[in-house]
Amino acid sequence: MIFEPVRISDIMHQYEQTRQENEGLLAWRREEIYNKLPAIKELDEASNSSYLSTALAMLSGNGDKAAVAEDYKSVRAQNRQRTAKKKQLLVEAGYPENYLEPIYTCPLCEDTGSIGQERCSCFRDKLINQLYLQSNLTNILEKENFNTFSLDYYSKEMLAGYDFSPYDNIVNILSSAKNFVDNFSKSSSHRGNIFIYGEVGLGKTFLTNCIAKEILEKGHQVFYLSANELFQNILSPYLMGQEKDLAELYKYVYNCELLIIDDLGTELINSFTVTNLFEIINKRNIQGRSTLISSNLGLKDLRIKYSERIISRIIESYTVFNIYGENIRYQKRFNSTNY
Ligand SMILES: [Zn+2]
Repeated sequence: MIFEPVRISDIMHQYEQTRQENEGLLAWRREEIYNKLPAIKELDEASNSSYLSTALAMLSGNGDKAAVAEDYKSVRAQNRQRTAKKKQLLVEAGYPENYLEPIYTCPLCEDTGSIGQERCSCFRDKLINQLYLQSNLTNILEKENFNTFSLDYYSKEMLAGYDFSPYDNIVNILSSAKNFVDNFSKSSSHRGNIFIYGEVGLGKTFLTNCIAKEILEKGHQVFYLSANELFQNILSPYLMGQEKDLAELYKYVYNCELLIIDDLGTELINSFTVTNLFEIINKRNIQGRSTLISSNLGLKDLRIKYSERIISRIIESYTVFNIYGENIRYQKRFNSTNY
């Protein structure tokens, strides 16, 4: 796993590769056509040599400047005719007329990544691709996004002990989650943090994925780990003495724009994890980096399993979403077997 932030030089390298591949393809086409249609080869050679001789005449500075310029004009006119002739020959032989013209995977920026001073849209796509690869989320995001979040599983009937029905509650949560996403791009600090808790099967991970996807699509760095993965990734290099790996991981865990820790409380909890979790939450808070934590445990249980100071940090600086209702997985199974 690579924990580095996206490097622009990696993306620029991809463009260079694309250009090389396309140049290779064009060279191959030229060879193919020169073999099949030698007349085109002759036309190309004539064009090249006439350009060369006028270019030399211009560079040498000898002779009548006006005459050289006139000469250049006529060479250009001749070459335009040759180009037209080439296109005609290609089409007659069943090829597209632009078969020997430069090939661009992105014609907008001609595979340079920018149009004038602006980044091309293909650059953004490449960047987001890289971000996905790094986020740990490549596979699961296709299906899970705000548009596919179904409210059908949340009852409109009141539950004892709650001020809102599960339905009204999740509607409120979704709207806050969307606000969080919208605000994320607007400022680089004060983006806020989220703590989502609720029992298994109420859509916590789904909601987490929705948020992750939106933030990634906006071109931000997201790093997604289950609590288990997080502490194992920290613990194993630690035990193996791989300090360099560990330093890289820490750098990413502390600095990425959005860190997601899923399923907090399912990992083995000991003084090592408690200390590390506090460090992560605290350092990210100080640096104004956003963190999203989801857990099956409510704040009370977390207080018992973790420490008071972790819980107070969360209460102080996180927006807390409590999802409640009936287990969605049971409902899905129930609905699919009883029709
Ligand atoms: Zn482009």
